Amino acid sequence: MLSSGDHIVIGDDIYGGTNRLLNQVMARFNIKMTFTDLTNISNLEKSIEPNTKLVWLESPTNPTMKVVDIKAAAAIAKKHNILLVVDNTFLTPYLQRPLDLGADLTIYSISKYMNGHGDVIMGSIATNNEEIYQKLKFLQNAMGIIPAPFDCYQVNRGLKTLALRMQKHNENCRLVGEFLERHSKVEKVLHPGLPSHPQYELFKKQASGHSGTFSMYLKGGLEESRTFLKAVKVFTLAESLGGYESLIELPFQTIKLPC
Ligand SMILES: *Cc1c(COP(=O)(O)O)cnc(C)c1O
Repeated sequence: MLSSGDHIVIGDDIYGGTNRLLNQVMARFNIKMTFTDLTNISNLEKSIEPNTKLVWLESPTNPTMKVVDIKAAAAIAKKHNILLVVDNTFLTPYLQRPLDLGADLTIYSISKYMNGHGDVIMGSIATNNEEIYQKLKFLQNAMGIIPAPFDCYQVNRGLKTLALRMQKHNENCRLVGEFLERHSKVEKVLHPGLPSHPQYELFKKQASGHSGTFSMYLKGGLEESRTFLKAVKVFTLAESLGGYESLIELPFQTIKLPC
């Protein structure tokens, strides 16, 4: 929906693939970008330029779990007549509903919690704005961005258990997070569902719970992290999330992979 010369404001912590798409693909089409820490919402207003068309954020962010005030971001975006996009992949509509909080578009990696079985690659955009919907429908047709029927069948099957899966993710992830927070070899746990999270109160206001994804800092450095990743038994070292397997990764390293 953007044109050459348009400007986007983006949260400074986003999924590595989004970062790559923006910096290495969209930048070639002369889309201008400002990355800023949206946990301080005044940074949003400061980053807006005359040609700003879009604000793009995640909450909680991948991978540092920053929580952004979606309502406040929506109010600023509206005031300047800019569209607000929220990537809600980490929480799904079961736990957080950005459109109800004022966002214009919610995007999902359906590949994650929504499908929930790690066997589909798909994305979706949700909007409650008829004009945007018509524009997107036109683009979908013009660009051929349609999923395969079999993939849709699998996602529909997965969605039937979304509520139960998210409840269990919420419970299990909190227990694992609490355990790690007490562990002597863990420096800190970043988990928006735990009271130790710096935006815990805000998170509770805009989301009804957390999913199964969180981050932690181990005591030590890269070497200790590598040793830990080699030693885990239940968790598989792999990118992705939201399936039934337990996965672990070191985002600092995965972000550098060429694909
Ligand atoms: C994985 C992920 C994406 C991209 O999803 P794909 O379906 O793999 O293309 C986008 N945003 C977030 C937050 C993700 O975790």
